[in-house]
Amino acid sequence: KQHPYHAIIIGAGAAGMMCAAEAAKSGGKVLLLDHSKSPGEKIRISGGGRCNFTNLYCSPENFISENPHFVKSALSRYSQWDFIDLVNRHNIAWHEKTLGQLFCDNSAKEIIALLLAEMKATGAELQLNAKVASVSHSNSLFHVNVDGRELAARNLVVATGGKSIPKMGATGFGYSVASQFGLSLVETRPALVPLTFGDDVKKELSDLPGVSVPARVTANKTGFSEGLLFTHRGLSGPSILQASSYWRETDPIEVQLLPEEDLFARLKDLRGEHGRKSLANGMAMLLPAKLAAYFSDKLKLHGNLADQSDKALREIVDTLTAWQLFPTGTEGYRTAEVTLGGVSTADLNSQSLECKTQPSLYFIGEVVDVTGWLGGFNFQWAWSSGWAAGTAISSK
Ligand code: FAD
Repeated sequence: KQHPYHAIIIGAGAAGMMCAAEAAKSGGKVLLLDHSKSPGEKIRISGGGRCNFTNLYCSPENFISENPHFVKSALSRYSQWDFIDLVNRHNIAWHEKTLGQLFCDNSAKEIIALLLAEMKATGAELQLNAKVASVSHSNSLFHVNVDGRELAARNLVVATGGKSIPKMGATGFGYSVASQFGLSLVETRPALVPLTFGDDVKKELSDLPGVSVPARVTANKTGFSEGLLFTHRGLSGPSILQASSYWRETDPIEVQLLPEEDLFARLKDLRGEHGRKSLANGMAMLLPAKLAAYFSDKLKLHGNLADQSDKALREIVDTLTAWQLFPTGTEGYRTAEVTLGGVSTADLNSQSLECKTQPSLYFIGEVVDVTGWLGGFNFQWAWSSGWAAGTAISSK
């Protein structure tokens, strides 16, 4: 009978690869399994092929979880600076795009190569095309059923990710393992996802697909100032994706257009300098032309700029800065970047990611009820949680 592995890790994504490299550091036999034909598929497509691998300003406030304190331990013990060091040691060129978001200059594949090199250096083994069908626990060992073979390990790590983008290998497998071992699950839902609207709103906005504009989008009292994009299905762009993680069915979203500008002062200036222009044309000097036309119609604007009282200008500004819209849903897991909810943090040790009630069983990465904002935070959680579990395992 085969000698048991020190650890088996299910899922060769960001968290699983990081964990495997770390877990093998003291020489224990470590096996990483994935049913896909190549590792790190989500890394490969992330950040438009350049992988937004972390964020300079990463802190616990950038994460959503039933327990907002849970991320603190892992994030502080393996921080963005640790991952940036690792990237530098592998001579991967990177740049800050915006808001602290770090991307590879060349290709996300460099991050996958980095992780594979780290695994190779510590001797962690990778098996691809290996679908784990079931796991069980007896005689202090985990038994992992892989395509009819049974493998045994002293430690088992579940790193199977969330439900987003099923065609890239996402399965609900991690959640069923959690249930099997009696852990609680926090309800899952698509996040960082475009919002959709009913036919009436889509008709009203039908001239706008393709238009993008800076906006502050607020859902459930949490607001994000980034780009907003009108699409044929509804609204997208970073401000909407961020707000989608806080939005719930029947809630409105509030859109403040051009949040960096003092629109009242701008309109008054335009009135002074271009008094003979129509109000509609004046609006087009502030907003993308199609959006200006939409609001001119909606507000039935008429007359020249010079004819407008302060009160009239104030009313326009109020509309542009507190535009309420009622989404009817999201585009769902098909396009969601991440999954909210997952394995309850109440059942996990925040230092090691080990289950409190089932020793030697670990959950890391997106399968856990920890969801980052857009901007490199989800990968940082994968690195930090993968490192934390890996270190705990290698020191056993
Ligand atoms: P995954 O990376 O999803 O890995 C899980 C692995 O488990 C997969 O390889 C899967 O094949 C395997 N698996 C599942 N079930 C089984 C089974 N039964 N047997 C064997 N293997 C199994 N985040 C950022 O921080 N920055 C970005 O730029 C960014 N861009 C993104 C772009 C897109 C299009 C998407 C969808 C997501 C993006 N994200 C980004 C989010 C980020 O990719 C995820 O949060 C992260 O990959 C989660 O890592 P993970 O290791 O937990 O899970």
